[in-house]
Amino acid sequence: MMFKMMMCKEATHLMSKQLDIPLTFQEKLSLKLHLAMCGACTQCNQQFHLLHETGKHYERLIEQGAGTLPGGGGNNN
Ligand SMILES: [Zn+2]
Repeated sequence: MMFKMMMCKEATHLMSKQLDIPLTFQEKLSLKLHLAMCGACTQCNQQFHLLHETGKHYERLIEQGAGTLPGGGGNNN
């Protein structure tokens, strides 16, 4: 095999990472390849983007003083 198959764990790591910082070309490629082969991660990726959008939406609401988030209960694992 030309490309090393990425684990789902690595794939989800890249998904969350790409929301904060741009991925390198190689990271993008590996993620794309994995998503092409893994339906579970494809769904996961969509949810990541949804969550990200929702987060931005709330940030704007808070800035406008139109809403407050229910307290940020930290969940230590
Ligand atoms: Zn996967």
